[in-house]
Amino acid sequence: MAADLHEPAPAKVNLFLHVTGKRADGYHLLDSLAVFAGLADHLTFAPSDALFLRVTGPFAGSLPSESDNLVLRAARLLATECGAQPNGALTLDKRIPVASGVGGGSADAAAVLRLLCRAWGVTPTFAVLDRVATSLGADIPVCLRNRPMRMGGVGERLTPAPSIPECGLALVNPGIPLATVSVFRAWAGGFSSEAILPNGWDNAAAMAASLSGLRNDLEAPAVVLVPAIQQVLCAIRETPGCLLARMSGSGATCFGLFASTAAAQAAAAQLTRPGWWAWGGPLSR
Ligand code: ATP
Repeated sequence: MAADLHEPAPAKVNLFLHVTGKRADGYHLLDSLAVFAGLADHLTFAPSDALFLRVTGPFAGSLPSESDNLVLRAARLLATECGAQPNGALTLDKRIPVASGVGGGSADAAAVLRLLCRAWGVTPTFAVLDRVATSLGADIPVCLRNRPMRMGGVGERLTPAPSIPECGLALVNPGIPLATVSVFRAWAGGFSSEAILPNGWDNAAAMAASLSGLRNDLEAPAVVLVPAIQQVLCAIRETPGCLLARMSGSGATCFGLFASTAAAQAAAAQLTRPGWWAWGGPLSR
């Protein structure tokens, strides 16, 4: 019997996010630096004639009905593109909070594309995979690449990121889901310019100093909708060794940057409050 196959789906963190304009179709244009955390959902494929999904893990209960899950939508689209028979018993171990600004659904969709190419023995070109990814969501192309990238356009225009130094990352969520569409609706407008970034940073402190001159433009409207985000940001800033605290994506998860994984883990251990979720670990480079 064939062995099970595994694929991680790492959480995406926006180190800054500028809203730079709006397209005629209503979608906002962004400039962002996306990186990936050591925190990941995990996907497993076991051979089966039918395609189905089982969701386990701490955030399984927050997910929509099976047919709406991005994992199955991505699997069916890939099968159509490749002329493959959609099959496999998929298990999604959901460890990333849902609707929290760290792209968990996008990461899962990208991971299942990588996983099923191996499981089904199909080799679509990267352009085909990218087309499937883009048609499912603006954050899925960056998750498909799974490495730091500068995001432009509505998220689909990807260019190389500056080289990222070793650093630790703490993630904290106040336990309140926040839909991206509500945050954009609450955003008061006023476009930011594109950031000017160096080719890289020598260490975490230099990167944090450079990022401190930038923003997440969605932080202010997200705080209006979920005031607890402000408390999360203050609590992260007060932890020893915190170099920068900011919200990721459309929230409500906020991150703290630290010089080391150990410092980030120590901070996360201090950031436990009733109803809050906290994680500390490495930032992937
Ligand atoms: P982003 O940072 O890309 O805006 P997010 O982190 O705010 O995303 P997700 O966790 O990706 O949000 O969830 C967005 C919505 O997608 C949720 O409301 C959820 O119902 C739906 N969804 C469908 N499939 C999944 C999945 N596998 N994991 C998480 N959410 C999913």
